[in-house]
Amino acid sequence: MQNVPEFYDEGMPCGVLTTEPLGRVLDYRAPEGGCWLGAFVQVPLGPRRVLGVVWGPAEGKFDQAKLRQIIRVLDAAPMRTELRDFLTRLADYTLTQLPMVLRLATRVPGLADGPVTRKLLFRDGTLPDRMTDARARVIAALDEFGGAGLAPGELAQAAGVGTGVVRGLVAAGALAERAAPRDQPFPRLDPTRPGPNLSDDQARAANALRAGRDGYGTWLLKGVTGSGKTEVYLEAVADCLRAGRQALVLLPEIALSAEFLTRVEKRFGAKPAEWHSGVTQAERRRLWRMVGQGGAQMVVGARSALFLPFQNLGLIVVDEEHDTSYKQEEGVFYNARDMSVLRGMLNGAQVVLASATPSLETWANADAGKYTRLDLTTRFGPNALPDMAAIDLRGQDLPANRWISPDLQSAVTARLGLGEQALLFLNRRGYAPLTVCRACGHQVACTDCDARMVEHRFLERLVCHQCGANAPIPTKCPECGAEDRMAPVGPGVERLEEETRTLWPEARVAVLSSDLFGSARALKAQIEEIAAGGADIIIGTQIVAKGHNFPHLTLVGVIDADLGLSGSDLRAAERVFQLTRQVAGRAGRADKPGRALIQTSQPEHPVIRAILSGDEEAFWQAEAEARRALSMPPYGRLAGIILSGPELEPVFALGNALAQNDAPLRRIGAQVFGPAPAPIARIRGQHRVRLLVKAAKGAPLQAALRDWTRPQKLGVNMRLVIDIDPQSF
Ligand code: ADP
Ligand code: ZN
Repeated sequence: MQNVPEFYDEGMPCGVLTTEPLGRVLDYRAPEGGCWLGAFVQVPLGPRRVLGVVWGPAEGKFDQAKLRQIIRVLDAAPMRTELRDFLTRLADYTLTQLPMVLRLATRVPGLADGPVTRKLLFRDGTLPDRMTDARARVIAALDEFGGAGLAPGELAQAAGVGTGVVRGLVAAGALAERAAPRDQPFPRLDPTRPGPNLSDDQARAANALRAGRDGYGTWLLKGVTGSGKTEVYLEAVADCLRAGRQALVLLPEIALSAEFLTRVEKRFGAKPAEWHSGVTQAERRRLWRMVGQGGAQMVVGARSALFLPFQNLGLIVVDEEHDTSYKQEEGVFYNARDMSVLRGMLNGAQVVLASATPSLETWANADAGKYTRLDLTTRFGPNALPDMAAIDLRGQDLPANRWISPDLQSAVTARLGLGEQALLFLNRRGYAPLTVCRACGHQVACTDCDARMVEHRFLERLVCHQCGANAPIPTKCPECGAEDRMAPVGPGVERLEEETRTLWPEARVAVLSSDLFGSARALKAQIEEIAAGGADIIIGTQIVAKGHNFPHLTLVGVIDADLGLSGSDLRAAERVFQLTRQVAGRAGRADKPGRALIQTSQPEHPVIRAILSGDEEAFWQAEAEARRALSMPPYGRLAGIILSGPELEPVFALGNALAQNDAPLRRIGAQVFGPAPAPIARIRGQHRVRLLVKAAKGAPLQAALRDWTRPQKLGVNMRLVIDIDPQSF
């Protein structure tokens, strides 16, 4: 590597990466006063000012005498080398333009605003002999702030005096001006406070993490819900904080509950900093800055927290690491779980992936010895895992439009009699998945997507779950015109709620479905109320599978375990297994034993059998074998190429052209499949076609994809996006 200067003196050429999609790095001259490598800057671009980061030496392609000058250096800690390397590697891996990736790291409100410090007045020296009434008011006003300073104007206003009085006190030596951070640091966490006494399993895991603390390493922390994983990784957080480094805990957004924050507060005496879409802009700005200045020790956040400018990151925890929401599938397609491992490597930080049902990728990495596996084999405390049983729907004689079998019904009734909670799980939002005309059989579909419209009674609309389009619920068939023949078919959670209220009219029923809440906050409030015992029966979609602790919940009924098993997706089995086990694991925490009843029409299906027997290792071994035989991930690599445009025909034609000109792929021994309709074949009026490229594990897939796709000319309004490691295949 060439010698990169750390500081660019005024006028020196340097390369700046902007967030504008223009190619890579542009040359500028360093501003007055010079700038550090990594500095956040504002540069002129045409008539505009744009945000950028000093990325390295000038490329020197342009006449250096004509270079424009950086306008100003923003008052933020320069971006550290590890983060710049991380962004570069992530851009290369995902085949995204670097400016797009830089946007992920600069998506903070008010980054370009004002300085991070400001001059404030503090008490200094002794009070002057000549104390007027006005002067006394100024001193009193300042004292009221308990040692925190105030700007001269603020102080004058607080005291109700003119600024002259304040200036007089400064001149008399009773007040002094000092620079103070504009943003308050986060309250200090105390990692020396004693944690709980760990079980043997927990202590073993915590010690293993402690022994590997001083550098990069990835651990799989595996254990059923309630086995004490959180407690173990909080030990690792304590070790990390004691070493003076920062810790990041990633959670699926919906699991970012007050419960978790309170738990951290109990353990360390203060709440961690939060980073997710529900946090105010001012708080996000404060966090972004404080993370860069060391004023935030621990961050709990959604996937985008991975791009924060940590000063000294020592630990990344990815909880519920199998969760599909870690994969971003717009803009920059990346999987935050995998990228955590990359960031950990570049930061010399420890990475802990925690899950009750790890992804097959992570399981295989542990199996191959790349990750160290730590198992918590029992639930913490005396209670055992929920007892699982199938209810064979073929023997249940369910009347039409009823989904709760008699066996499940009596089990729920029994729990309610004990004052305990029951959860009915159905992974379908809305009232009914289909709206069908009983006269002609017509099904109402979205006009813009390849999807049926879903009836939502609560909203009194038909809604497309792909694009969000909605329409009134029709009384007349749009196809044959028959009046009052449109009927809902199949259950959604809202319909299940109706059935539940009929069966148990006295029970308090709560429905947890993401679309019933205006905001993440409202949803969290509802979750907390349920946890406190505010409902007898909970009806929920997959959001209930994620890390909430409902201490009174002792029975889980899975309404339709077969949902998802029939798809052609190779990952379907893994998903159904994970989700059903996760949901079942909600039953029976604290001191009450739990039970899970799984309604199915195919109890002999291998996935259902694995769910019931709990023989996870056998399940994973079988899944791994199946994938290995097909050289599919994690035993081979996949990339999806998604082509889209308003007309299907040219999109398919482009797909065919790509499939035929596959020389760059053949050179690395890769195969191309398709074009075929993408998993979402049409969305918002855009037709989508997908090619899947399969390569051997060590093959230089990215370079080949670049060579293969770059020469393609795209028609107007057509798009080509590359999805490395697609979620469905
Ligand atoms: P997981 O993260 O695997 O779901 P948790 O860490 O949340 O498990 O633990 C489950 C419950 O047991 C929590 O209520 C937690 O407070 C409690 N718990 C876990 N470990 C201990 C311990 N060593 N001492 C006391 N309580 C514990
Ligand atoms: Zn639609």
